[in-house]
Amino acid sequence: MSAKTLLTAAQPTAALHLGNYLGAIQHWVRLAPQYRSYIFICDLHALTVLPQPAQLRAHTLEAAALYLACGLDPKHCALFVQSHVHGHTDLAWILACLCPLGELQRMTQFKDKSSTPSDGFVSSGLLYYPILQAADILIYNADIVPVGHDQKQHLELTRDMASRFNQRYSETFTLPTPYIPEQAGRIMSLQDPTRKMSKSDPNPAATLFLLDPPNTLRKKIRSAVTDSEARIAIGPEKPGITNLLSILASLKGIRLEEAMAPFASSYGPLKDAVADAVIEALTPIQTRYQAIIQDPQAIEAILTQGARQAQAQVDSMMERVRHKIGLK
Ligand code: ATP
Ligand code: MG
Repeated sequence: MSAKTLLTAAQPTAALHLGNYLGAIQHWVRLAPQYRSYIFICDLHALTVLPQPAQLRAHTLEAAALYLACGLDPKHCALFVQSHVHGHTDLAWILACLCPLGELQRMTQFKDKSSTPSDGFVSSGLLYYPILQAADILIYNADIVPVGHDQKQHLELTRDMASRFNQRYSETFTLPTPYIPEQAGRIMSLQDPTRKMSKSDPNPAATLFLLDPPNTLRKKIRSAVTDSEARIAIGPEKPGITNLLSILASLKGIRLEEAMAPFASSYGPLKDAVADAVIEALTPIQTRYQAIIQDPQAIEAILTQGARQAQAQVDSMMERVRHKIGLK
């Protein structure tokens, strides 16, 4: 195990999806044993879209069970829920006071999410969320942060925040490096392949949820938006086909060109092959999930243990930070 620290998380805004798995979780599983790893469920971030309390609770437990079902081993990481560890929000406030408003307003994800609110409400939490994310990362002195491509800009902001703090108050935080997979770092929506697949997409047909039954997965893939050309090719002018090929390629661990090779012109066989590969990959995860979720107390025990490990690191870091900025 390297002495370096890995940190990553997903929001329990809704059930996890194939983009989360291919772009993020499968890499966490592989990388976690190689680092001192902190992996969590960011329930405080999920509050930005005001979920129903019962749903938030259910999705948090479900996310923990899914992490485990995807192969995360609590022996290799501290697995916890963000709000169970105290200190992230304290550091977020301190960082917010160092962050110019304009930097938050130009975040692409804020612009995207605030332009299409489901009920016309845009919380200021949505604007502030990259600051809390920066605090989540910096408080553990993370070296490596495996994320999907959509988080690249937030990671840059995090590095800027760390430098700004270090310059003003002396060397304190490590500048984290994002780990973005080359392939599948950005799985696109099945209904609008120019937008990324998202948990918060209001159209459920756009997203392949990890717990969707096989017939639902197949139906969604069959009705994926492509184009009217009947030509299998990779590129920005073929976003639907490129997305299907990148799902297939990353599930099979091959290059896009190899994934494309067996298919001639019609899209039906490609969609069938994608559906087969997705179902084959997700069925064992679903079976393990069904077993794990039967025992919520065992999941809670893992999360409690993870929070304890995380709290020790947070306490020592916040002690230093409070002293450096004059709160102590
Ligand atoms: P939300 O719509 O609520 O923001 P999300 O689908 O973006 O949900 P997150 O919980 O924000 O999911 O992200 C968890 C991890 O999954 C992050 O590392 C993120 O970069 C990655 N991820 C999210 N969507 C995709 C995607 N479509 N392709 C690849 N990786 C993704
Ligand atoms: Mg997101």
